[in-house]
Amino acid sequence: MDNAVWQRVHTLVENANRILLLGHVAPDGDALGSALAVGLALKKRFPRKGIEVSFGDEPFVVPANLQSLPGTDLLVAPADVHPEPDLVMTFDASSIDRLGTLRELAENAPAIIVVDHHASYDGFGDVALVDVKAPATAVVADELIGRLSVVLDADIATCLYTGLVTDTGSFRYAGTTAKTHSFAGRLLDTGIPFDEISRELFDSAPFNYLSLLGGALSRAELVQEAAHGEGMVWTLVPAGDRQALGLAFDLVEPIIDIVRKASEAEVAVVLKEDDEGALRVSMRSKGEVDVSLVASRLGGGGHRYAAGFTADSTDPAQVIASVREQLDS
Ligand code: AMP
Ligand code: MN
Ligand code: MN
Repeated sequence: MDNAVWQRVHTLVENANRILLLGHVAPDGDALGSALAVGLALKKRFPRKGIEVSFGDEPFVVPANLQSLPGTDLLVAPADVHPEPDLVMTFDASSIDRLGTLRELAENAPAIIVVDHHASYDGFGDVALVDVKAPATAVVADELIGRLSVVLDADIATCLYTGLVTDTGSFRYAGTTAKTHSFAGRLLDTGIPFDEISRELFDSAPFNYLSLLGGALSRAELVQEAAHGEGMVWTLVPAGDRQALGLAFDLVEPIIDIVRKASEAEVAVVLKEDDEGALRVSMRSKGEVDVSLVASRLGGGGHRYAAGFTADSTDPAQVIASVREQLDS
């Protein structure tokens, strides 16, 4: 990002009284962590500006494992956000449809600054703080916070660390570099309880989650001939399974991390039925196959190793057939 871009960001931020920060729908730790980190930094630097953080899901449910993030007092449900912000900033969203029910409000705002790291960013913003080499949006958010001359404190660092560990798979994925670890070191220097943060994010769920996981795993299928013999493992998590166990949708998200362990399969796919009956699809690859290409062709996006889309069809057999067709092409 050259200086002219940062200068535009400065001017837009300085001149805005009401700033709305948005993560993508069904936010993960990177989307919500980055938005809250910048929200806290803006509040610190400009205490008199109106700062709201939201995402376009209705009903507005903060995923259980993100509820203890600092700065959640800045969160406002879509129905309650100020309808005419002077500036919108989006986090971890590569296209405007990822803003869900807040899309129109954002489109009508005088300016949108995009903070992101997707190669599939489609250019929807007025100013793009997009670094496709960054392993998480949190890395770009950190640079923005520095450019706003805000010194990291433990609350901001907790939000950034949440984004960083979420998108790097706790520093295991290929996007991780020495710089990533230095950044993590700077965050730890603020004194954050990184062990508690990771436990809350990855290693904590209600007892009934074990049953949900058991059902999903028992239904898993290995299709060895898929993706030119590289192999695909897939499963389905019906909404009924979740509802019977009293579990919210966000508890389905970590299941892909278990399914993708199957070493015979290059690609893992989980079809996640939401409460409206739509099938949201998560895909992971081990590096040979670029799943973002598959997701993009089916109306979604993502990264080489992790991508997703919301299916046009509600029939799991049809959806998995369309994924296979793309993998086999
Ligand atoms: P997930 O499997 O939901 O964790 O998503 C993995 C990655 O795929 C995310 O980081 C997003 O970049 C991308 N992604 C997931 N769903 C969509 C979608 N409906 N549209 C665009 N990108 C998506
Ligand atoms: Mn994300
Ligand atoms: Mn991300």
